[in-house]
Amino acid sequence: MVKYIMVAGGVMSGVGKGVTTASIGKILQAYGYKVTAIKIDPYLNFDAGTLRPTEHGEVWVTDDGGEIDQDLGNYERFFGFDVPKKNNMTTGQIYKAVIDRERKGEYLGQTVQFIPHIIDEIKARIRDAANGYDIAMVEIGGTVGDFENVPFLFAMKSIERDVGEDDVMYMLITYLPTPSHIEEMKTKPTQQAIKLLNNEGIFPDFIICRAKKPLDDIRKKKIETYVNIASDHVISEPDIDTIYRIPLELEKESLGIKILEHFHLRPKHKVDLSAIESLVKKIQNPTKELTIAIVGKYVDIGDYDLADSYISINQALIHAGAHMGIRVNTQWIDAKKIERGDKELDKLKSCGGVIVPGGFGNSGVEGKIKAIQYCREHKLPFLGLCYGMQLAVVEFARNVCGKTDAHTTEIAKDTKSPVIDILESQKDIIKKQQYGGTMRLGAYAAILKKDTLVYELYEKTGRLKADREKLKAMEQKKGAEFRLGVLEHKPTILERHRHRYEVNPAFVEELEKQGLVFSGYHKLDGKTSLMEFIELQGHPFFIGTQAHPEFKSRLEDPAPLFLGLVEAAAKGKK
Ligand code: GLN
Repeated sequence: MVKYIMVAGGVMSGVGKGVTTASIGKILQAYGYKVTAIKIDPYLNFDAGTLRPTEHGEVWVTDDGGEIDQDLGNYERFFGFDVPKKNNMTTGQIYKAVIDRERKGEYLGQTVQFIPHIIDEIKARIRDAANGYDIAMVEIGGTVGDFENVPFLFAMKSIERDVGEDDVMYMLITYLPTPSHIEEMKTKPTQQAIKLLNNEGIFPDFIICRAKKPLDDIRKKKIETYVNIASDHVISEPDIDTIYRIPLELEKESLGIKILEHFHLRPKHKVDLSAIESLVKKIQNPTKELTIAIVGKYVDIGDYDLADSYISINQALIHAGAHMGIRVNTQWIDAKKIERGDKELDKLKSCGGVIVPGGFGNSGVEGKIKAIQYCREHKLPFLGLCYGMQLAVVEFARNVCGKTDAHTTEIAKDTKSPVIDILESQKDIIKKQQYGGTMRLGAYAAILKKDTLVYELYEKTGRLKADREKLKAMEQKKGAEFRLGVLEHKPTILERHRHRYEVNPAFVEELEKQGLVFSGYHKLDGKTSLMEFIELQGHPFFIGTQAHPEFKSRLEDPAPLFLGLVEAAAKGKK
C-alpha cells in the first residue's frame, strides 16, 4: 500500500516548498523506502511550455518530453532518478481530460460536475503516479486559502477516505517572519494558515517552519498551544547556506523516524545520508574557488529573477564543483551589453570558463557570438548549451570558414549560409501546431565518436555505461523508438532536448574540414544524422551540445560536460 504525504504551503509562496518536499523524500529514501513526488500546479495552463512570458525563463524538461515548472528538477536532483511528466499535473490538464471525455460521450446520461468528476480525475492521476512506490509525496502548489487549490485538498481528503487515515499524512510548510522593527519571530501568520487548512477539514500532522533563524522551544510551544499540534511535530527549517544540507538539518529533528512512526513503518536499514553529507562538507569547505561566466539575456524580462532563470545550470555547476572540492561562483554577463561595447567582454578575463546557455530569438545573439569568439581565440574553457552550441557553429562558420553571413535561420531567414536551420520534419510539426509542443523535446540518444573529449567525459564518469543500460530497458518499451535512433552497438548516451533548430546537415562536411569536430550525433528515423556535440581540438575545453545536460545533473551524479568545464577552468587557474 502506498503511503501519501500531502505537502501544502501556508503564509506565502517562495519559501522553498519544492526543495523541502524533495529533502523529506530524500530522508525517507535514506531509510530504505521507495519514494516519489508529485507536483500539482493549480494554474490553467496545460503545461509550463507556454507559461512563461518569454521562452527564456527555465522550463524543466523530463526524459519523456514534459515541459514542467522547475519543481520536478528539485525532485530529480535529490532523488537521483528520472521523474516522468505524469508526476506534474495542472488544473488545465485535469479539466481538459474531463471535458475531452465528455465530448467523446463517455459520460453519456450524466451531468458532469466538479464533484465527483474533477475530483476523480485528480485522484486517478495522483494514484497512478504513486503506483509502485512505498511513499508518494504530493506537493500542492500555491498557498492554503487560495481558491485554486481547494480541489486538490479535497481530493487528498477523498484519497484518505479510500485508503484509510493511517496511510495519509498532511504537512504544512509555513514561514515565520521576523519584522526588523521588533526583531521577534512571529507565529501568528502560521497559526492562521493552519486554521485555513482546518477549514478544508485537514488537520496537519507536521508543521515545517521556514524562517531566517531556527525556531526556539517557546515558539514551538506557542504553536502547540494555539493550534493543537504536538511541539515535537513542529519542525524548524531555517535559511541555510546550501539546499543540499536541508535533509541533514531536518534529520537533526528526527523527522524521518517521526514520519515512519506515523505510518507504523520501521526503518528498512540504518539511515544513510553519508553520500550527501560528504558532498555538503565539500561544498562548505572548498579547497579552490573559481568563477564561470554565464553569458545570457537578462534585462528585458521585467523583474525577472536572474538566478532562477538558469537554476539548473547553476545547480549543475554546484554539483560538479562539489565533487572536486571547488566553489564555483557564477558571474552573470549580459550579452546585450557585450553588443554595446567591449567593456563587458573584459569581464571574461577574470573568469575560469564561460557558458553560453540555451535561448530563443535575436536579443543578445551577436554579443553571445562575440563571447564565443573570445573563448575560442583566447583558449578560455567554453561550454555551449543548445542555443550556445548553435551560435558556436555560427561563429566558427563566420570566423574560421570565412562565411561572413553565416547564421541561424531563427534570426536570418534568408542567409546564404544557414548553418543552423529547421529540418523539413520539424517544419511539418510547426505548421500543424502553432503554440506549444512544436519542439524536439525530451531524451534523445546520441552516438558518440571515440577519441573525442566528449566521449572521454561520458566514459570516465560512468554515464556511458549507465545510459546504455537505460537504453536497453527503453528498447523493450514501445513508443520510445523514435528517440533512440539507430543504436547498433555504438557508444550511445541520453540527454534531454528542447529546441526547434539543428545544425544544417548540408554544412557538416565543410565545417568538419575546417577543424570543427562533431563528437556525437542522433540518427533521425535511421537516416538523417543530427549533430549533438561539437568540440575543438587544440583548445583546453571548447564543447557545445544541442542538448541540455544540466537537466540530468544531480548532486551525487554530476553531468559529465559540467565536470569537464569546471576541471578545465580549475587547471587554467593554477
Ligand atoms: N532557439 C534554439 C532552437 O529553438 C535553441 C533553443 C534552446 O536553446 N533551448 O533550436
